[in-house]
Formats: sequence, C-alpha cells, structure tokens
Amino acid sequence: MSVIWIVIILSAIGLVSGILIFIVNKVLPREPESLKRAEQVAQYLPGYNCGACGYPGCFAYAQAAAEDKDIITKNPCATVLQDESMLSGIEEALGLEIDTSQMNKKAVVHCYGVTVPLGDYEGIKTCDAANSLVGGFKRCSYGCLGFGDCAVVCPQDAITIDEVRNVAVVDPDKCTGCGLCINQCSKGIIELVPADSNIVFRCSYESLKDIPGRERCDEGCLHCRKCFKACEHDAIIWNREKGIPEFDFSKCIMCGECIEACPHNRLIELKNVVPHKPALKK
Ligand code: SF4
Ligand code: SF4
Repeated sequence: MSVIWIVIILSAIGLVSGILIFIVNKVLPREPESLKRAEQVAQYLPGYNCGACGYPGCFAYAQAAAEDKDIITKNPCATVLQDESMLSGIEEALGLEIDTSQMNKKAVVHCYGVTVPLGDYEGIKTCDAANSLVGGFKRCSYGCLGFGDCAVVCPQDAITIDEVRNVAVVDPDKCTGCGLCINQCSKGIIELVPADSNIVFRCSYESLKDIPGRERCDEGCLHCRKCFKACEHDAIIWNREKGIPEFDFSKCIMCGECIEACPHNRLIELKNVVPHKPALKK
C-alpha cells in the first residue's frame, strides 16, 4: 500500500472519530441538573454526616433535597436551622423561601429523676446495659437511668446529668433539636417538641400498664387529670392508654393553669428545667 493510501485511511479514521465524539457530546446528557443542585446545597450543609435528618449523610440529604425541595422542611437539618448563612445559601441554591417558625425543635426528657434504686447496680455504667438487665435498677421502670448515653451523643453538650436527682436534663438554649439523643435513650423518654413551646411534662409512668413488681416513684404523676381539667384551651390531650397528659402546643398559651393544678409539680416551664447544683446533695 502506498504512503498516500495510508495517509488517506488515517485521515478518514480521524475524521469519523471526531464526528462521533461531537455527536456523542451533543446527544448524551452532561452532568444532570439535580446533581449540580445537590452539590450547591451540600456546600451549605454542616458535613457532620450524623444521619439525624434521616439520610445516610449530608450529601445524600442534599441529593434528596435537590430532587424534592420539601425535604428541607419535612426533614430539616437542625444545624442548618440554627445558622442563618447556611439557611440562606440553601434557599438560594434551591430557589426557596424557608419559613423556620414551625420547624425548630428542642429535646425534652420526660422524667424528673428521684426514683430510688432497687439495689446496687454493679454492671457496665451505660443506660443501655442497665436497661437490658430487667429494664434497669430503679423503682420506676420508666425512669431515667442517669448514665447519660444521651449526653455522650449530643454534639452540642446540651445534656447534663443532674447529680442530685440522677436524671438527664436538656439545656433548651443549647439544644438544636438534631434528635440524636432520642435514638440513644433506651427508655424512650426523650421527645422533640416545638422550640417555642415552653412547658414540659416530666414523667413517663404509664399507669395502665400491668408490669408485675413495678412501683411508682413518690414524686411521679398521680394520673389525677387535674392538669387536663384545668386547661381551658384544650391544649392538653389525656392519653388514655398511658394515663398521662400530652400537649397540643398550637393551642397552649402558657397561661400556667395546668402547672398550678399539678399536685406533684410534674409540669414545668421549660426555662426552669435546669439541674440542681451538686451542692444541694445530701
Ligand atoms: S434520658 Fe435515657 S439515655 Fe439519657 S441518661 Fe436517662 S435513661 Fe440514659
Ligand atoms: S442530641 Fe438531643 S439534646 Fe443534643 S442537640 Fe440533639 S436533640 Fe438536642
């Protein structure tokens, strides 16, 4: 084959390849639009990958939000809610205006402590380990075990253990409502409530459950329904199954009538939820 033919064949291969590359470049989609948006959103996420939003990590959350903007309000990231620059970055990336007024949450612990131990507990000093031994070692089988599994996972150091009452206490000013403590509590007594709610019921004793050998702590809810009867705003719903009051925070005007009515002071204004100083210990 003469040199001229080799040049012609190589030129033809080059030309055809060039045309193919041009066509493929035009026809195949470039980076999908939603991936680009997810990358923009991810820039404004904290990068903790804590999973508290319900997604395996911050980028997975950003991808979900890029596909469905409602995710930002349905599964809010508590850290973003506390940070205006993150929030406005996400608003810009998604073309949204986010109303945070109903999204902020705070954790509350539904126990006041004080329930006494049934005996010396010698096992591993975690709530999970203690709970796996016949539900703990305290008279009230619903009570906080006080080893602070919740405090260990709290990224904001918002939980302390009250050394006098031996109960976990959440500082509402530090809590960002990420919810990590909820999954950690083997007693299931931590709940997220709207951040602007200002009242907490500090007992979890379910009067109607038939658990042999259990006892109520002397300070716990009496199930007298006086709080329920005192509320003129229908903000308390009586949970018949558990025999405890629950709140409709949208109706509560914080008049304090229920707090006054409770003979055992189990209803407390959230701002008063602070640990006793250890100095009070006997
Ligand atoms: S609230 Fe739950 S996790 Fe926290 S110390 Fe009490 S029992 Fe343990
Ligand atoms: S772990 Fe619990 S107490 Fe701590 S910031 Fe999250 S929700 Fe609040």
